[in-house]
This record gives sequence, structure tokens and C-alpha cells, in this order.
Amino acid sequence: MEKEIIPVPSSADLAELFVQAHLVKHKAYVPYSNFRVGAALLTSTGKIYSGCNIENASYGLATCAERTALVKAVSEGEHSFEKIAITSDVETGFTGPCGSCRQTLAEFGLDLDVYLVNPKNESKQYKLRELLPIAFTPRDLQKPRTDHDITE
Ligand SMILES: [Zn+2]
Repeated sequence: MEKEIIPVPSSADLAELFVQAHLVKHKAYVPYSNFRVGAALLTSTGKIYSGCNIENASYGLATCAERTALVKAVSEGEHSFEKIAITSDVETGFTGPCGSCRQTLAEFGLDLDVYLVNPKNESKQYKLRELLPIAFTPRDLQKPRTDHDITE
């Protein structure tokens, strides 16, 4: 799944999405890890919702940038998303979304384009379905189920 590095955003819209991810990273509340992350989520109606990571003294309650952006968007009535850009301060390589964020984003569709963006504005592009194979989605809840198994 090694992807080529995209040296510059391929469109003005994508460039704006990356800028919003970089900008919101500066608002990260990370007194414990000092690991800043910014995410910008593009809706199918062309709106951008951005989010930073927010840590907590009880460590386990930290919220990731991706989920902050998603929560903001959904609470404004958005359910359809095209792209997300995710950036951090890591100088070499790219920062991917954690498993929890992959699953939370998958609720709204596996065709989401996920752009991992480094501080130099280089990026790598993935489909969410590549990052979360054999995903559990709302469709799984629609599948017929049995009330018998081999022990019965
Ligand atoms: Zn996460």
C-alpha cells in the first residue's frame, strides 16, 4: 500500500483544504503529548469543517483532530463527505488516522479520500476503505442473522 508522494495539492480546492488543516493544527490542545494534529473535512456541499486534537488530564479522554472535525460537521447537519486532510508536525513520513478515527469516519462512507499531509505540504492520498479493510459499517447491521450456531 505504499503510495507516491504528491508534491503539491492538485487543485485550488485541495490546497484550501490543506491550508485549513495546517491552520487548525495551531489550535491543538496538547499539554501532555505536545503532538499537534490538524484535520480538515470537506463536505459534498463544499463546506470545510476543521478540527484539532484536544487532550485531557485523564489522558484516555483525548479527542483526535479527525473526530473533532467530524463531530463539528455532523452537529451542523452534514452526513456526506468527500475528502479529509490530516497533518501533524512530524518531519519525516506522514501521520495517519488512528483506528478509532478510521472507524468513526467509516460510519459515513468508505469512499472518503484521505490525504495525509506533511508540514512541507506534500501529501499521500488513500481511500478510507484502503485504511480500514473489512470495515464494520451500518450495512452490517442490516444483514440477516441467525439465532443458532454450532453449539445449539
Ligand atoms: Zn484518532
